[in-house]
Amino acid sequence: MTSTITESTVFVMATKTFINNKEWVCQYVPCYIESQTAENVSIKPFNKTGIFVVSLLEFNALFVYLERDSLYVYVDSYPSGRILISEFQVKKISLNKLIKHFSDNSVFVSLIKKVEQDSYGGKGSQKCVNMLEYNAYITSTNSTSFKLERIGDPIFNRTARHTVPILDTFSREEFEASPSFPAPIGIRNADFALPTEQNELLLELLTQLFNCVGSPVCPPIIASELGLIITTETHMCKWCCEKISLANLDQTYCSKIHSINLCHCDPEVGTKKGNVYWGHCSCNREQGGYSEEERINQLIKLVKSNPLYIEHVLLELLT
Ligand SMILES: [Zn+2]
Repeated sequence: MTSTITESTVFVMATKTFINNKEWVCQYVPCYIESQTAENVSIKPFNKTGIFVVSLLEFNALFVYLERDSLYVYVDSYPSGRILISEFQVKKISLNKLIKHFSDNSVFVSLIKKVEQDSYGGKGSQKCVNMLEYNAYITSTNSTSFKLERIGDPIFNRTARHTVPILDTFSREEFEASPSFPAPIGIRNADFALPTEQNELLLELLTQLFNCVGSPVCPPIIASELGLIITTETHMCKWCCEKISLANLDQTYCSKIHSINLCHCDPEVGTKKGNVYWGHCSCNREQGGYSEEERINQLIKLVKSNPLYIEHVLLELLT
């Protein structure tokens, strides 16, 4: 059980990633001090659900104090340099009741789980060092062989979306110069979202599912508990402007023409509220890795260089 944050709660952050109780404690993630004894400090990192007990010696060597006021904790590693303290106490929305209710409908359950997975988890990097490799590296007297293998990656393999966002411009050289190296230090910038935004995204994508043609009915009590406002048979794929149907859906991941997937209006922006929606896999493939805006600009050029189409396009737009 974690304690409540009060006006006098103290915030700190680690200056390098380290391992505690078989888990990574990530650098530059704000943590609040839950309790303290003569030997130990118990901290609750923003991106973790549990409490970590750090010896006073380790705490003094690794942690620095963060400024705070009644609303925010100030931390340069996060967008806008601060985080609302209330975000520390935002809990994940549980979809267990929903999953249990639809347990006989495996395809629909797989869609609910996809919503949960993408709302709360980043894509991660499989190149991220594991704890065994990390310990071997830091205890090795000769790290040259590790360097040749390009050990590690700044991005965690699996972690919460409110871990420190790492900009795409962050270089390998900067990573190797980091005191945490070769331990991971954050999450892809496109995967970053604060807990409130993750919950909003989860509810938005869930609402879209229930708004599809042929969707099973959400029990009113669960809809009301989650705060879902369902308007059946209204959800459309943004690419082809057709309503999405869950009837005869074969959800063997985009292998069939009628499959659906989470599509991004702008892939660079990532899984953010308003930028992601349930669309057709085939439409997603057509869009490719481009944003909608890029595709529209390409079409404008194509139409301009083919005068026969201009009149046709204008007519289409006016009707
Ligand atoms: Zn479509």
